[in-house]
Amino acid sequence: MKSGMGTIGMHIRQYVPFTGPGECICGCKGGTLAASGADHIITATCSDWGCYGLMAALAYLKRDMEILHREEMEAEVMRVASRSGLIDMTGSLLPGIDGFNTRMNTGIVSLMRQCTAYAVRYSHNSDQWFGPVLGKGFFQKGGKEVENQSCG
Ligand SMILES: [Zn+2]
Repeated sequence: MKSGMGTIGMHIRQYVPFTGPGECICGCKGGTLAASGADHIITATCSDWGCYGLMAALAYLKRDMEILHREEMEAEVMRVASRSGLIDMTGSLLPGIDGFNTRMNTGIVSLMRQCTAYAVRYSHNSDQWFGPVLGKGFFQKGGKEVENQSCG
Protein backbone atom coordinates (compact mmCIF):
# COMPACT_ATOMS: atom_id res chain seq x y z
CA MET A 1 0.00 0.00 0.00
CA LYS A 2 1.34 3.37 -1.00
CA SER A 3 1.43 6.12 1.58
CA GLY A 4 2.76 9.62 1.99
CA MET A 5 2.46 12.75 -0.14
CA GLY A 6 3.23 10.81 -3.34
CA THR A 7 -0.32 9.50 -3.26
CA ILE A 8 -2.03 12.86 -2.81
CA GLY A 9 -3.34 12.89 -6.40
CA MET A 10 -5.13 9.61 -5.83
CA HIS A 11 -6.72 10.91 -2.62
CA ILE A 12 -7.75 14.18 -4.25
CA ARG A 13 -9.40 12.30 -7.13
CA GLN A 14 -11.15 10.05 -4.62
CA TYR A 15 -12.51 12.73 -2.27
CA VAL A 16 -12.57 16.10 -4.05
CA PRO A 17 -15.43 16.60 -6.51
CA PHE A 18 -14.71 17.41 -10.18
CA THR A 19 -11.08 16.27 -9.98
CA GLY A 20 -11.34 12.77 -11.45
CA PRO A 21 -11.38 11.93 -15.17
CA GLY A 22 -14.73 12.89 -16.67
CA GLU A 23 -15.87 14.81 -13.58
CA CYS A 24 -15.28 18.33 -14.90
CA ILE A 25 -18.59 20.00 -15.71
CA CYS A 26 -17.31 22.06 -18.65
CA GLY A 27 -17.67 19.18 -21.09
CA CYS A 28 -13.93 18.53 -21.57
CA LYS A 29 -14.31 15.00 -20.15
CA GLY A 30 -11.32 15.68 -17.90
CA GLY A 31 -10.91 16.60 -14.26
CA THR A 32 -9.75 19.72 -12.50
CA LEU A 33 -6.74 18.10 -10.81
CA ALA A 34 -3.44 19.52 -12.04
CA ALA A 35 -1.71 17.24 -14.51
CA SER A 36 1.77 18.27 -13.42
CA GLY A 37 3.46 17.00 -10.29
CA ALA A 38 4.87 19.08 -7.47
CA ASP A 39 8.21 18.88 -5.71
CA HIS A 40 6.74 20.27 -2.50
CA ILE A 41 3.24 20.76 -1.17
CA ILE A 42 1.94 23.43 1.17
CA THR A 43 -1.36 22.50 2.73
CA ALA A 44 -3.63 25.19 4.15
CA THR A 45 -7.31 25.54 4.98
CA CYS A 46 -7.38 28.55 2.68
CA SER A 47 -4.82 28.30 -0.14
CA ASP A 48 -4.07 32.02 0.15
CA TRP A 49 -2.87 31.42 3.70
CA GLY A 50 -0.41 28.85 2.37
CA CYS A 51 0.82 31.50 -0.06
CA TYR A 52 1.22 34.01 2.76
CA GLY A 53 3.27 31.39 4.62
CA LEU A 54 5.50 30.84 1.60
CA MET A 55 6.03 34.60 1.23
CA ALA A 56 6.78 34.87 4.95
CA ALA A 57 9.39 32.10 4.69
CA LEU A 58 11.00 33.82 1.68
CA ALA A 59 10.96 37.17 3.50
CA TYR A 60 12.72 35.55 6.46
CA LEU A 61 15.30 33.72 4.35
CA LYS A 62 16.05 36.82 2.24
CA ARG A 63 15.84 39.13 5.27
CA ASP A 64 13.50 41.34 3.22
CA MET A 65 10.11 42.20 4.69
CA GLU A 66 9.02 43.78 1.39
CA ILE A 67 8.54 40.24 0.00
CA LEU A 68 5.56 39.72 2.34
CA HIS A 69 2.81 42.12 1.41
CA ARG A 70 1.12 44.44 3.89
CA GLU A 71 -2.38 44.26 5.34
CA GLU A 72 -3.51 47.27 3.26
CA MET A 73 -2.55 45.56 0.01
CA GLU A 74 -4.34 42.37 1.07
CA ALA A 75 -7.57 44.29 1.74
CA GLU A 76 -7.26 46.26 -1.49
CA VAL A 77 -6.71 43.12 -3.59
CA MET A 78 -9.82 41.51 -2.08
CA ARG A 79 -11.91 44.64 -2.70
CA VAL A 80 -10.72 45.06 -6.29
CA ALA A 81 -11.25 41.36 -7.03
CA SER A 82 -14.76 41.56 -5.61
CA ARG A 83 -15.64 44.71 -7.56
CA SER A 84 -14.31 43.04 -10.70
CA GLY A 85 -16.79 40.20 -10.26
CA LEU A 86 -14.61 37.56 -8.64
CA ILE A 87 -16.83 35.13 -6.76
CA ASP A 88 -15.25 33.10 -4.01
CA MET A 89 -15.98 29.43 -3.32
CA THR A 90 -19.01 30.36 -1.22
CA GLY A 91 -20.58 32.13 -4.19
CA SER A 92 -20.24 35.48 -2.48
CA LEU A 93 -19.33 38.71 -4.21
CA LEU A 94 -18.34 40.24 -0.87
CA PRO A 95 -14.61 40.92 -0.49
CA GLY A 96 -13.04 37.83 1.03
CA ILE A 97 -11.41 34.50 0.32
CA ASP A 98 -13.10 31.12 0.71
CA GLY A 99 -15.73 32.69 2.96
CA PHE A 100 -13.19 34.42 5.20
CA ASN A 101 -13.73 38.17 5.21
CA THR A 102 -11.14 40.92 4.80
CA ARG A 103 -10.64 41.28 8.56
CA MET A 104 -9.72 37.60 8.89
CA ASN A 105 -7.29 37.63 5.97
CA THR A 106 -5.65 40.93 6.84
CA GLY A 107 -5.34 39.67 10.41
CA ILE A 108 -3.46 36.59 9.22
CA VAL A 109 -1.20 38.73 7.03
CA SER A 110 -0.60 40.98 10.04
CA LEU A 111 0.26 38.04 12.28
CA MET A 112 2.63 36.59 9.70
CA ARG A 113 4.29 39.96 9.16
CA GLN A 114 4.83 40.41 12.90
CA CYS A 115 6.19 36.87 13.39
CA THR A 116 8.50 37.19 10.37
CA ALA A 117 9.76 40.63 11.38
CA TYR A 118 10.46 39.27 14.87
CA ALA A 119 12.38 36.32 13.42
CA VAL A 120 14.38 38.58 11.09
CA ARG A 121 15.16 40.95 13.97
CA TYR A 122 16.10 38.39 16.62
CA SER A 123 17.28 35.23 14.84
CA HIS A 124 20.92 36.25 15.44
CA ASN A 125 20.22 35.47 19.11
CA SER A 126 18.77 32.06 18.49
CA ASP A 127 22.03 30.16 19.00
CA GLN A 128 22.37 31.81 22.39
CA TRP A 129 18.72 31.24 23.27
CA PHE A 130 18.19 27.77 21.90
CA GLY A 131 21.70 26.33 21.64
CA PRO A 132 21.55 24.92 25.17
CA VAL A 133 18.15 23.37 24.42
CA LEU A 134 19.49 21.76 21.26
CA GLY A 135 22.60 20.73 23.20
CA LYS A 136 20.34 18.77 25.51
CA GLY A 137 19.04 16.85 22.49
CA PHE A 138 15.58 18.38 22.13
CA PHE A 139 15.29 17.40 18.45
CA GLN A 140 17.20 14.13 18.69
CA LYS A 141 15.15 10.99 18.49
CA GLY A 142 14.37 9.99 22.02
CA GLY A 143 16.43 12.88 23.39
CA LYS A 144 19.58 12.49 25.41
CA GLU A 145 19.53 10.87 28.77
CA VAL A 146 19.22 13.61 31.34
CA GLU A 147 20.11 12.87 34.89
CA ASN A 148 17.77 14.23 37.47
CA GLN A 149 19.96 16.71 39.23
CA SER A 150 19.05 19.20 41.85
CA CYS A 151 20.71 22.55 41.97
CA GLY A 152 22.05 22.66 45.47
ZN1 LIG B 1 -13.33 20.79 -18.12
